[in-house]
Amino acid sequence: MAKVMLFIDGTWLYKNMPRLSEAYGQADFRIDFGKLPLVLSGEVARQLGSTSVDVVRTHLFGSYAANYDLKDDDAVQRRLDFFDMLKEEHNYELELFPINFRGRRLRRNDRDPEDSFEPKEKCVDISLATAMLYYAAIPNAYDIAICVVGDQDFKPVLQNVRKLGKRVAIASIKGSCAPEYADARDEARVKDYGIIWLDDLLEELALRYERHKLPCQSPMHKGDREVWTTFYPRRGQRFYCPDCQSEFASQKQEAQQEYVSSNVEEVKPAAEAAPAPTPGMRIPGVVKKKVADRGFGFIQTEEGLQYFFHLTDLEGDLEFQEVEEGLHVEFEIKKDPNHDKAGAAQKVRRVG
Ligand SMILES: [Zn+2]
Repeated sequence: MAKVMLFIDGTWLYKNMPRLSEAYGQADFRIDFGKLPLVLSGEVARQLGSTSVDVVRTHLFGSYAANYDLKDDDAVQRRLDFFDMLKEEHNYELELFPINFRGRRLRRNDRDPEDSFEPKEKCVDISLATAMLYYAAIPNAYDIAICVVGDQDFKPVLQNVRKLGKRVAIASIKGSCAPEYADARDEARVKDYGIIWLDDLLEELALRYERHKLPCQSPMHKGDREVWTTFYPRRGQRFYCPDCQSEFASQKQEAQQEYVSSNVEEVKPAAEAAPAPTPGMRIPGVVKKKVADRGFGFIQTEEGLQYFFHLTDLEGDLEFQEVEEGLHVEFEIKKDPNHDKAGAAQKVRRVG
């Protein structure tokens, strides 16, 4: 039985989702990532005239924003939740790299037009190419690589993997695909099968939702807690209804205005020997201020740095109702404090 491994350029796929939505004719088109490996390996089997292919692993390479303006927090969290879902529900292997936005908005249109900042994605292409070659060099790891790509940069790795005796299939999107990959005569010698167009498989790939009822877990929920939804929470994840979510969004916006006023004059410079706190680091702190009616508060660290948290940033058994000023917690830094603004915390847990 032929062993298939998938290598997906997640950044490219994400960027080209609007093309697929347009081709499908529905703005909310989403790929069912549970089905994607089977649909693509099915296409390869069809071209081989056999049904005996076995998907051994699916690798996805991508990036996520770090150290960004919190107005974009919902978008970033959705992306991270999406990656968690791929890993936990569909057993994808992920290689993800942070892009440092240095406190800025994600979209260029939301940034100062004078600002020449360019977010730099690092390592995504190289790590895909490296993984393809790495597994090609391990005996029997795979027979056929299915690459979900469009950028021309992968040409050398596709050629070299074939020189190692592996077969290569390319799945791509019309209008976002290097001409060498689409070339039916394959003069560049990059593939062993006819190109697979995702555009032609949308019916099979579309994610279909089932509606069901879930209780909203916001302490500020109004009315009947049981709400119709298409959301399936994973272990440890909390469900908040759309009304509460939009309420949270405005709470966070309001809280942003308050960052400045949060006792910043008390901030002492960090001791020189201490490593500078950076996003992703887990550190301890004490709840300094709680704005109970608006669902947020601030945590202060030993050095006097302050970090904003929203009730949706609490984890484990910690409920917003139980958070009190003076409570010892630990948290992950989502955003650094910057000049006179507090930073932001996430994954806040009780300690002791
Ligand atoms: Zn609610």
